[in-house]
Amino acid sequence: MEVIYKSTRNDNEKVTASQAILKGLAENGGLFVPNSIPVLDVDLNDLAKMNYQEVAYEVMSRMLTDFTEEELKYCINSAYDKKFDREEIAPLVKKGDAHYLELFHGSTIAFKDMALSILPYLLVTSAKKNKVENDIVILTATSGDTGKAALAGFADVPGTRIIVFYPKNGVSPIQEKQMITQKGDNTSVVGIIGNFDDAQTGVKNMFNNKELAKEMEAKGFQFSSANSINIGRLVPQMVYYVYAYTRLIANGEIQAGDRINVVVPTGNFGNILAAYYAKEMGLPIGRFICASNENKVLYDFFETGVYDKNRDFILTSSPSMDILISSNLERLIYRIAGDDAAKNAELMKELNETGKYEITEDMAKKLSEFYGNYATEKETAATIKKIYESDSYIMDTHTAVAATVYDKYVSETGDKTPTVIASTASPYKFTRSVMEAIDTRYASQSDFDLVDELQKLSGVSIPQAIEDIRSAEVLHKTVCDKSDMEKTVRTILGL
Ligand SMILES: *Cc1c(COP(=O)(O)O)cnc(C)c1O
Repeated sequence: MEVIYKSTRNDNEKVTASQAILKGLAENGGLFVPNSIPVLDVDLNDLAKMNYQEVAYEVMSRMLTDFTEEELKYCINSAYDKKFDREEIAPLVKKGDAHYLELFHGSTIAFKDMALSILPYLLVTSAKKNKVENDIVILTATSGDTGKAALAGFADVPGTRIIVFYPKNGVSPIQEKQMITQKGDNTSVVGIIGNFDDAQTGVKNMFNNKELAKEMEAKGFQFSSANSINIGRLVPQMVYYVYAYTRLIANGEIQAGDRINVVVPTGNFGNILAAYYAKEMGLPIGRFICASNENKVLYDFFETGVYDKNRDFILTSSPSMDILISSNLERLIYRIAGDDAAKNAELMKELNETGKYEITEDMAKKLSEFYGNYATEKETAATIKKIYESDSYIMDTHTAVAATVYDKYVSETGDKTPTVIASTASPYKFTRSVMEAIDTRYASQSDFDLVDELQKLSGVSIPQAIEDIRSAEVLHKTVCDKSDMEKTVRTILGL
């Protein structure tokens, strides 16, 4: 059965999977959603015998139905290879009473790699299928993590160029070094004099600039987006939930058909939505435990049915979850509205105009599988220290938010269902916060000294991504004013 993707804001806008990947966003700000989610009609016990790539094929082939077997296998095998430092790609590690699904073994040591290592291949294949002959130019504004993962994913992928803008004085030294040392003939990294919002606005303006699009077309280029609302990022994320479940079977922890719970440290709601889609496909998941940091918009939403972004933005030690508009929540709202695009569009209009909306009681009833809670900065640090001391396992700050919320969930409910916690970043990516959580005496040491200390404490070898930037040569030195972003793009592309 063919899966068609339609807009969350307009029933008449329908495209194939490959077209949805190429377009990224639907018209008028809508997101593409599958018209129905096919059943994963493979025996879970059989999946338990497959490796990551094989499971990926079973899941993705059901969602991306206009890709041929050959195309999809090419994308999967090109993405999930030696770039990952573990053969299992996403190892499942049991510590205490939880199973940590480590999603950070890719080239930039955060879970964004799970989707951004395959998106370039999906995009190029989609371009070919739709007879797009232009080179695809990915424009991205980043506050740190997404930019590096996108760069690593698109570097040297034929038929693509990638240009990343970051706020010159608005990212951490390690994040900046990761980006400006990026190799690949098709990569450009530009620091702007301005903040992240300026970078984001500049990129949006270029996407909407018809004149620029025309000149690009004449030179054989067109823009696309590696943004997290692209369905080409969501579908690959469904895979690791199925994979985790089947590893639990293989390890004798559960039997096929048993329920599990998942805990997901959440920002833009992409990761947890992928788990929800996996359940719709037939994976036996009981509760979706949505963990927030002090930016607890989602917790409040699950408690009250009111989504309200009118509040202070708090900078936390889990910056990838510092977010007040969780874009992918729209896909869930659409679903609980009964796939009603008009109703969803109305709520999103309210969000846009007033910064808040309230769902109906009927809609709220359909959220019973979700549990939301949050962790304060103090609790997050305490969890890192506690689990280090009890299990000699060192987790990053984002994962620690999830582990904290999991504890709260268990003490509130007594629910002992086997649970998978999505572990979204390597502790080496947030070394300072992690080490200071373990002992405040580390506060006086330099970032790279702390890397060595972390290695000593954890016994986990330093990831290549960190070794690489210690000595790597700076390759990108362009800095421009926020008003000159378009000019810079023209120079890079030779327009
Ligand atoms: C992006 C990110 C998250 C949040 O994931 P969403 O899909 O946006 O909810 C959590 N942890 C880390 C380390 C991330 O990079």
